[in-house]
Amino acid sequence: MAESKRDYYEVLGVPKDADDDALKKAYRKLAKKYHPDANPGDKEAEAKFKEASEAYSVLSDPQKRQQYDQFGHAAFDQGGGGAGGFGGFGGFDFNGDMGDIFGDIFGDIFGGGRSSRARSGPMRGANIKTSIRISFEEAVFGCEKEIEINFKETCASCHGTGAKAGTSPQTCSKCNGKGKIMYTQQSFFGQVQNVQTCPDCNGTGQIIKEKCPDCYGTGYKTVRKKFAVPIPAGIDNGQCVRQAGRGEPGINGGERGDLLVEAVVSQHPIFKRQDTSIYSTVPISFARAALGGPIRIKTVDGEVEYEVRPGTQTDTKVRLKGKGVPSLRSRNVRGDHYVTLVVQVPERMNQAQKEALRRFDDAMNGITPSEEEKPKKKGIFK
Ligand SMILES: [Zn+2]
Ligand SMILES: [Zn+2]
Repeated sequence: MAESKRDYYEVLGVPKDADDDALKKAYRKLAKKYHPDANPGDKEAEAKFKEASEAYSVLSDPQKRQQYDQFGHAAFDQGGGGAGGFGGFGGFDFNGDMGDIFGDIFGDIFGGGRSSRARSGPMRGANIKTSIRISFEEAVFGCEKEIEINFKETCASCHGTGAKAGTSPQTCSKCNGKGKIMYTQQSFFGQVQNVQTCPDCNGTGQIIKEKCPDCYGTGYKTVRKKFAVPIPAGIDNGQCVRQAGRGEPGINGGERGDLLVEAVVSQHPIFKRQDTSIYSTVPISFARAALGGPIRIKTVDGEVEYEVRPGTQTDTKVRLKGKGVPSLRSRNVRGDHYVTLVVQVPERMNQAQKEALRRFDDAMNGITPSEEEKPKKKGIFK
C-alpha cells in the first residue's frame, strides 16, 4: 500500500518549498472539489479527498513535514490504519490540530464550520450565591460570620469517579473516549461535518456501568457545610464577598466555581448610611439651642461630646470628621458622620415650667423694639 502512495506534494500540486499559505490554498481547493458530502456516492472523489486530507495533515505540521521530507511515506507506516494512521475519514484526529485545520478550512468553505465545533473540555463549575444578614455596626467594622450551605463534596466511596467501589469507569464506545462525535448536517452548501458533545457520556469520554451507590454515580455528595466568611469593614448592603473555589464542582476536570456571599445589612434605628457617610438627627432642647453648651451625640464609635453654639437654629448640620464608615479599599480611611440638630418644642410641661416660659416670653416681648411698655424685670435668663 505504501509503495502505491503518491507523493504528498504531488497530491496537493505544490512545489517542495511551498509555504503554509500555498499548502492551505491548494488543500482548500481540493477539499472543496472532492468533499464526500459534495459528491455523494462517488468513491473516486472520496478517495481523492482522503488522499488530499492526508497530504495536508502531514505537510501542514512542521514536525511531520520534516519527517516526511527525510523518510518519505515510511515515516508514517507504523500502525497502518490504526488510531494514529490515516485508514479512513474517521481515523483523523479531530480533537487535535486537525480539528482546527478542518474548522478553519470548512469554515471558509461552508461558513460557520469552526464556530459550531462542540466544546467538551474542562468547564468551570457554577458559582453559588447565598446571602447573610449582618448588623449596621458589623458592616461598618467588619466581622466574621459562619454560613451553612449545601456543598457538593467529592464522594469518599468512589473518590469522585462515580463508579461503584472495585469497578472503574469504561471508555465510552460511542466516542471512543474522545467525548465528541462527528455528525453530518445539511446546510445551504450541502452536507457539513460537524462535531458535537457525545450524548452517551456527556463529553466525559467515560461510561459508568455500575454506579457508586453512595453518590448515584455523580461523584459528589451534597452535604450541609459550614464556612467562616470574613466580612470586610465598610461592606455595604448588597455587596458580595467572594470565596474562591467553594462553588459547584467543575466538569471534566474544570475548577470549582466560587461562593458569593451577599451582605444584607439591617437598618439601624438612628443611623442612615450612604457610601462611607453616616447620617443621624439629634434632638436638642430649645434652651440648649439658645444658650449653647455641651451635648452627647451617638456615633458608631460610641457617644461623643459636642459643644452647641449659642443661638443654634433647628436643622443645623454638624460634621463629625472620621466618624463615618471605613473605605473598603483602606480601613484607615473613614468617612464622616453628619448630624442634623433638631430643636425640640416641649409637648407637655408642668405648671412651673409653663410659668417660667411665660415669664421668658414676657421678657422677650419686653425687649421688642415695637413694644411701647417698659420691659418688666421678670426674665428668668439673665
Ligand atoms: Zn461515589
Ligand atoms: Zn462518549
